[in-house]
Amino acid sequence: MNWHEIEQKDFMQVFERLPVTLVKGRGMYVRDDKGKRYLDFVAGIAVLSLGHCHPVLVKAINRQSHKLFHTSNLFYTTPQLKLARLLLKNSGMQRAFFANSGAEAVEGAVKLARRWGHINLNGAYEVISANNSFHGRTLSMVAATGQPKFQHPYEPLPTGFINVPFDDISAIKEATTEKTCAVLLEVIQGEGGVNIPQADYLEQVRQWCDEKNLLLILDEVQTGVGRCGTLFAYQQCGVIPDVIALAKGLAGGVPIGAILATEKASVFAKGEHGTTFGGNALACAASCAVLEYIIKHDLPTHARSMGELILGGLKKLQQEFPCIVDVRGKGLLLALQFNQDIAKDVALACLDMGLLVNNLKPNLLRFIPPLIVQPADINKALCILQKALYKITEQHC
Ligand SMILES: *Cc1c(COP(=O)(O)O)cnc(C)c1O
Repeated sequence: MNWHEIEQKDFMQVFERLPVTLVKGRGMYVRDDKGKRYLDFVAGIAVLSLGHCHPVLVKAINRQSHKLFHTSNLFYTTPQLKLARLLLKNSGMQRAFFANSGAEAVEGAVKLARRWGHINLNGAYEVISANNSFHGRTLSMVAATGQPKFQHPYEPLPTGFINVPFDDISAIKEATTEKTCAVLLEVIQGEGGVNIPQADYLEQVRQWCDEKNLLLILDEVQTGVGRCGTLFAYQQCGVIPDVIALAKGLAGGVPIGAILATEKASVFAKGEHGTTFGGNALACAASCAVLEYIIKHDLPTHARSMGELILGGLKKLQQEFPCIVDVRGKGLLLALQFNQDIAKDVALACLDMGLLVNNLKPNLLRFIPPLIVQPADINKALCILQKALYKITEQHC
């Protein structure tokens, strides 16, 4: 049996995997079990902020692993205290809570919003979220995620979530009732297809939340930690949220999640929320190293200029290939959309030529490389993508 057959036999068949077994990586590159090298424009789904096995991250994990892995939150640890300082200082938030994943961070933020509703809004508990959003796979986050394909298999869903059209302030206003306690949004919808709202959307949502005393929760699990050209994507939108959820790129590949909130919104009392692993010393040491590196080397600014380079290249490809109907993105969260369902074929052709790209939807490719990507990597990726497009469009267009 090969690995592919073993996976088919042993695993719950929920993942659509590309046919490669990856064994090691360094920087922008990763190798499979046959020794073939791939340029990585997926980065573990926007997780590997510093690329594969960055020496700074390896060293931090190595050091911490000789000292202390885990204590639980019955005690203080210095990596966790240090990470909270670093995040709060750079986000303008005032209090932190650490979790293990994106879903867990956003779900914790929703629990915080329910406490807010209990305390300040007469027991209001409903959270308004957007169609085409993505907030994770727990049962509640599936209810928050406004995509029927994630919801239908699990009905009846937990109550208390209202999905409304994205980038439509009047839809939020119409959905608001005396039961509403919060609005939950991504700054740019990642899994939903790299959807960027109008420039003033978040400002209008902020105003509405202020008017109604609702919490504004921004899910920056994908957009945060430098990916969109600022340390947090909301910093480009002229708003300050009440609550932020972080995960993906936060520790460069080590599982972690975080909730950050303003003093006013931090209404959890002792015992009202908790976790065994969350804020684990090893994960926090990794995250400190990643964040310090990102800040010290101003990778958000780098991400912005590299993103512009990729977007420019994709726009050139759009002129060359009429089946490309849109290219869009901010920083290093980018997408290319086709007028037909050829994204998987193109991704497989890229894979064959040594480039990992994510076929997020049947008609859409997503580019989410590590923040350390360099112009030479981009030229190479665009060159492979062009060849793949020639190959596939000859067959289809
Ligand atoms: C990936 C993602 C999540 C879920 O994160 P997990 O770590 O998979 O639970 C939540 N929100 C957004 C915006 C995401 O991109």
